[in-house]
Amino acid sequence: MELTTLSRRLQALTGSPQLSHAYLFCGSGALQQALNFSAALLCGQPAEGSACGHCSACIHFLAGTHSGFQWITASGGGHKIETIRHLHKLAYLSTLESPMKVFLLQDAELMGEPAANCLLKILEEPPENCVFILTANHLDSLLPTIVSRCQRFSFASDEETETAAVDMQAAACFLRELPSMPISQVLLIAKEREKDAAAQEGFFAALLRVLHQAAVGKTELPMGRKKALDSAIMMENAIDYLRKRVRQQLLTDVILLRLWQNSRSEG
Ligand SMILES: [Zn+2]
Repeated sequence: MELTTLSRRLQALTGSPQLSHAYLFCGSGALQQALNFSAALLCGQPAEGSACGHCSACIHFLAGTHSGFQWITASGGGHKIETIRHLHKLAYLSTLESPMKVFLLQDAELMGEPAANCLLKILEEPPENCVFILTANHLDSLLPTIVSRCQRFSFASDEETETAAVDMQAAACFLRELPSMPISQVLLIAKEREKDAAAQEGFFAALLRVLHQAAVGKTELPMGRKKALDSAIMMENAIDYLRKRVRQQLLTDVILLRLWQNSRSEG
């Protein structure tokens, strides 16, 4: 489906009785769409499904002070169960200023099983006037029980999807061979990868996606589910540094060596 059509479908939902209590947005444009949708849901006078940008709700939203909006980002170790419990409490609190509450859970794939199960309980018995919007890079990196509770929208292009599939095959192969590789070979691969920043980013994104799949049991890796989630969280943080161009060369070595260690230890 084209992006514009998707956006229109979302717009049509604002203020509609068909509004669901849980949405899952995937793909590279997911976060922006989630923010637009949140703003539109909270706006006092939305026009054609978009936030007006002028009403008091919009002004608070833009200033980051809207009491009905909670934007949850993953801390260093991914989404913790305490965070999801806190979210649960907030959802059941009534805030007088806002008849509608919107919870945006960014990078929902960075949830361990306990946190995901806690979220699942909220999604199964959602409090009134609450909308939960989850964003994730890929649908297949989330627990199927969470996915099935959400209305899903993908904001990835066909080209993105195709390239990702090829990269993922290579990444899965690499992760399966990793435990039996000698350390010298891992360092050699790291050196090779450092030469081309764009290809490296694609490779790491693919590794991350395979690790997320392994963490929820959708693909098998020798390192097992728990180590796969640990590795994914480690990589998310490291990729963040890479994007900021911090000590690029050293980081690539560290990422691959940590993965190598994880792949050889008992999960
Ligand atoms: Zn407004």
